[in-house]
Amino acid sequence: MPNKNIFCNIPWFELNINNDGSYDLCGCQNDKLLGTELGEVYNIKKIPIEEYWNSERLRNSRMIKLGDIPDPKCNMCQQKDLVGYDSNRAKENTKSVIFPTQFDRSYQQSPHLHHFEYSQANQGLTKSNIHSLHINIGATCNFACRMCNPNASTRLQTEFKQLKWISADKTYNHWSDDPIGWGNFLSFLNSNLNTIKVLHIIGGEVAFIPKFKFLVDYFADKGIANTVNLSFTTNGSYTYAEYFESLSKYKRTEIGISIEGISTMGNYLRQGGEIDKILKNIQWLNQNKPQNMQLVLRTVPSLLSLPSYYEVIEWAWDNGIPIDNSLLTNPKWQLASLLSDSLKEKVIEDVTKILNRLPSIAKQEFKNQKDPHKLSITMHNECETIINVAKLPAPINADDLRKECAAKLTQWDKLKNINLRDYSVELYEMLSKYGYQGA
Ligand code: SF4
Ligand code: SF4
Repeated sequence: MPNKNIFCNIPWFELNINNDGSYDLCGCQNDKLLGTELGEVYNIKKIPIEEYWNSERLRNSRMIKLGDIPDPKCNMCQQKDLVGYDSNRAKENTKSVIFPTQFDRSYQQSPHLHHFEYSQANQGLTKSNIHSLHINIGATCNFACRMCNPNASTRLQTEFKQLKWISADKTYNHWSDDPIGWGNFLSFLNSNLNTIKVLHIIGGEVAFIPKFKFLVDYFADKGIANTVNLSFTTNGSYTYAEYFESLSKYKRTEIGISIEGISTMGNYLRQGGEIDKILKNIQWLNQNKPQNMQLVLRTVPSLLSLPSYYEVIEWAWDNGIPIDNSLLTNPKWQLASLLSDSLKEKVIEDVTKILNRLPSIAKQEFKNQKDPHKLSITMHNECETIINVAKLPAPINADDLRKECAAKLTQWDKLKNINLRDYSVELYEMLSKYGYQGA
């Protein structure tokens, strides 16, 4: 029997393709293969998906999920489990009808048990099909968000070069522009049309990436969109109205809108965006979306977003939109646990006030965080999680990381000619003690 705190069905059903074409298990993994030497080996530009599916790396990953030692690359799920939030691991396991409570019994009764047992007996080999594709289709982006990285944003590529955080001649060759990489992907899609049930697309901002339209039309043109759940993530600068007709053909569509704050910190964190316009776009989408479409706010609670995070929860509650957060694990200098003790106390106070105003709920065994019909439950869960995040102890090297944060933001804000003081006085005061000086 696998360990209930480690088992995850992802390596049997999902494949993730990073910006550079490297393969990973899922989008939630920290320490991805992206940009590494190994990522050049396990890469769609070198190995077709069918060959990778039973490669040594993926066989090992399956054996790890059946074993007793957690995969360090799955720290985000472990952190979420720790603070009582629905981890992606728990959510994905429900697709194999495996539940965190009653794990042993549900695992034994899982319709996928034969796949897990086959792998256990055959050094991680599997005969299962990929059901879920999570793909990064390009880096074109109009934003330069603080927690993102140049692999995912052309605007960040420019800024990081100006800041000399990456060399001026650094190039980012996207796999989807590579004839072999894209050819391998299309060949896989054409041969596996009936087994793909979930397609999740990220960028960049996918609205500016032509392959987004290609993929949205692809399943619709083949007449099988009604068998596929399509989701994608956007920065909210675009409404996607022109896609509504095509998107409504899918079994279900989900738009994840990334926001970190609904007032000034929203603009500070997501440079290039105007939070007022983004909020209006989200409200318009919410009122005009096709029936098969669901919205979710995607947040990344961090040192910079936590002090004003209660405003996001309030706004989401008022507008009836669930939140699905991904705790920040990189860059380390933005970890939420670096917040000063006094600011952590204030976070707990602010979020507790919201929690106390929410309608009371019956204790649930498992909560689908993105279910818009159970908003009270998801908001309770969100509040409790953020309170637990604010209780996380600072790491042992916290002061070094706070100094790094102050130094990086000083450099970055001077480039942009802005000052944190104009966005958050409390964060300005905290980081000034570690050397922050904006423009
Ligand atoms: S444990 Fe979490 S991060 Fe790891 S593969 Fe499963 S869902 Fe992804
Ligand atoms: S909008 Fe998305 S891809 Fe663009 S910089 Fe922000 S997080 Fe990165």
